[in-house]
Amino acid sequence: MPQPQRPQRGGPRGRGGPGGDRGGPRRRRRQFDDDNKTPLMWQPKTRLGRMVKAGEITTMSDALKTGLPLREPEIVDILLPDVADEVIDVKMVQRMTDSGRRVRFVITVAVGNSNGFVGLGQAKGKEVGMSIKRAIENAKLNIIEIRRGCGSWECRCGTPHTIPFKVTGKSASVEVTFKPAPRGIGLATGDVAKKILRLAGVSDCWAFTEGKTKTVVNYAKSVFDALMKNAETRITESEITKLGILQGSIVAAPPTPMTPAPPAGGPQPTEG
Ligand SMILES: [Zn+2]
Repeated sequence: MPQPQRPQRGGPRGRGGPGGDRGGPRRRRRQFDDDNKTPLMWQPKTRLGRMVKAGEITTMSDALKTGLPLREPEIVDILLPDVADEVIDVKMVQRMTDSGRRVRFVITVAVGNSNGFVGLGQAKGKEVGMSIKRAIENAKLNIIEIRRGCGSWECRCGTPHTIPFKVTGKSASVEVTFKPAPRGIGLATGDVAKKILRLAGVSDCWAFTEGKTKTVVNYAKSVFDALMKNAETRITESEITKLGILQGSIVAAPPTPMTPAPPAGGPQPTEG
């Protein structure tokens, strides 16, 4: 019986053929295994990467403003050293094949510096750990610079604790609308939106959802879609001053973290 075969899938790539010394998979694997790669060891392959390594670009804002494609996660590691990640969803996908069951994982991850920059990414693979790693990298490559401000008419404090204006995002059946909330409200949203907004550095926000928000991936994608609109919407100078709109990170006075985590080293003895 002829086996159904899929062409073009890693097919005719010979092992160690002449001239084929690009060593694709092997080199890539080694890179991923290298957990403690330092930015100094990194050899950038793209124009933006070279500019960042050379110190010509020193902020994530400037990197995004170049309009050059962001293809290397190391750029984000260097420009946003405090970037954190959170796994939003792990889905197991099973498929029956001739040789038995094939299990794959689809991982969705959000990243952010809790100060104006946030990204969402996905990866599929046979192993959870490796897929998470690749999803984190993809999330970094999708990073955007959001705007914060005080668009709440009940508050009008002019500080960037919430979003400056209402935005709506969509993915499949899920639609989410974020509205500016007054100071102290916190994130009045579902858990998935909470994780992503926290990574983005939004402290107060109302959310209104429609559709199947239990579908975590679509919910997360609709949240990110709304934040992309937040980043892309055209605003005027007068809106910037009126709503205290700030783009990207607050450099002078970073926002107090949502949960002030004590250092893991235990209580420090006080001197004196
Ligand atoms: Zn306010």
